[in-house]
Amino acid sequence: MIPYGRQSVDETDIQNVIETLRSDWLTTGPAVAKFENAFAKKVNTSHAIAVSNGTAALHCALNAINLQPGDEVIVPAITFVATSNAVLFENAKPVFADVDPQTLLMNPDDVRSKITERTRAIIAVDFAGQPCDYAALREIANEQGLVLISDACHSLGASQAGSPVGCLADLNCFSFHPVKPITTGEGGMVTTNSTVYANQITRFRGHGIEADFRKRTEQATHRYDMASLGFNYRLSDIQAALGIRQLAKLDKFIRKRNHIAEQYDYLLKDLDGIRPLDRVSNSQHAFHLYVVEITSLSTNRDTVFSQMRENGVGVNVHYRPVYLNSYYQQVLGYPQGLCPASESVYERVLTLPIFAEMSDSQILQVVDALHTCINRPNQQAA
Ligand SMILES: *Cc1c(COP(=O)(O)O)cnc(C)c1O
Repeated sequence: MIPYGRQSVDETDIQNVIETLRSDWLTTGPAVAKFENAFAKKVNTSHAIAVSNGTAALHCALNAINLQPGDEVIVPAITFVATSNAVLFENAKPVFADVDPQTLLMNPDDVRSKITERTRAIIAVDFAGQPCDYAALREIANEQGLVLISDACHSLGASQAGSPVGCLADLNCFSFHPVKPITTGEGGMVTTNSTVYANQITRFRGHGIEADFRKRTEQATHRYDMASLGFNYRLSDIQAALGIRQLAKLDKFIRKRNHIAEQYDYLLKDLDGIRPLDRVSNSQHAFHLYVVEITSLSTNRDTVFSQMRENGVGVNVHYRPVYLNSYYQQVLGYPQGLCPASESVYERVLTLPIFAEMSDSQILQVVDALHTCINRPNQQAA
């Protein structure tokens, strides 16, 4: 089965991890510091704080803005559940904004219509690796006094108007899960230009304690103070050793993903019934996902999903509107119909395989399978 995404790990990556295993530091130490510095430089921010995963990165960002119970944070309906769950972790309320069905990016006009006097922040999700309209969102945030957070878990390596993703919002969150642009197995990062946010996140990552074990060792002191409540969201040096190597290959990975996307564009342009998502001008895409909309009225998405998998192509679906999950419906009481464009387009989207090491013959296999499955007389999904 061709997977919808997978990591690229080479021998030098493995050697770097092995060297770390032989060193004095396994958990957060010099490799994490080196990874953070290289990352901050790459995305052009003054601070990068490594954490244990992308969900932790989002939790850290939301903790840093000191939400009060009842405060609202606007999130897109179409995203991974972690985006809005992180708002719940901080006892605030996720408010869902609809997406533009052409791009699946949050619609700034709908964001504006969802603002109340309790709104404190907006989380923009760079769906599939394409940056949101940060100019429009920044204008709304500034006008209304809101914090702009970027869930950039898909979009490391992308840029907008010449600026890299990672410096486009006040707080920017990344994931290094194996299907994401680079991997550390599990891992995440928050970037910001604010020293106040950076210090709070560094504390929150380590139990709310001011100086970590390494700093205390260097300062030859056993004393520490816990001044706020925190978690253990540390990244290990073993993971950071992989991250340093992966980050060095980011540009190459993104070029390969863009090349695969161009081939898909070309090979799918004459296939009626399929529409790749729109690209926005002024942006460089990271192509974490290659998503198409099935526009053929005679073709059911779930049928295509099953048939593609029967043909050895590991397609996927990103994402069911978050508030349609049973926890949001039954426990939190969110109604259906909140974001009509999201609910409607969700029924028709399909994610095709894309990953840096995908071969030309695998691309052809996906396209051939699609030709077989689209515009066939409709059957019920198995
Ligand atoms: C992957 C992902 C996350 C969560 O990252 P983890 O590292 O898996 O915790 C959050 N938001 C989006 C949009 C993601 O794709």
